[in-house]
Amino acid sequence: MNTTAARKGRERTCNQCGAVYRSIRNTSRFCSSPCRKRAGRGSAPVGGPKAGPECWGVIAKALHRAGYVGRVGPVSRRDTSAPTYALLVDPETAHAELVHQFDRRGWGLVSREEFSAALKADGIHGFNTRSPETLELNRFRARQRGRMARAD
Ligand SMILES: [Zn+2]
Repeated sequence: MNTTAARKGRERTCNQCGAVYRSIRNTSRFCSSPCRKRAGRGSAPVGGPKAGPECWGVIAKALHRAGYVGRVGPVSRRDTSAPTYALLVDPETAHAELVHQFDRRGWGLVSREEFSAALKADGIHGFNTRSPETLELNRFRARQRGRMARAD
């Protein structure tokens, strides 16, 4: 069976952020209401890994809503570099949850390949406890503990 054909709607590219999404409406042009509003305001298209959750594709958005994707950096609030996002659970768990959600909505199957490609397209890092962000977070926590110990 061709799983792509079993899905409702067809794949479209958001006119605002360029994210690939699905819609059963022939007139659908935007992936989300923030994108529709942004386009209405005439602001320049954004999109890409730096655009953040509002312009992610359906897969990343669903994982974000479920709490399986979250912000991992920057660790310090004084750090003004762009936010980084990662899987907060192992990919098997996140993929299983996504399959469940899409099935419930009648959106068809999501292959593991499609899942990985969607995360990559939206700049979401894999679940990795040795990521630079995690190491930085550990260093930050260690400094906090040191500070608290000195305050005693
Ligand atoms: Zn969009």
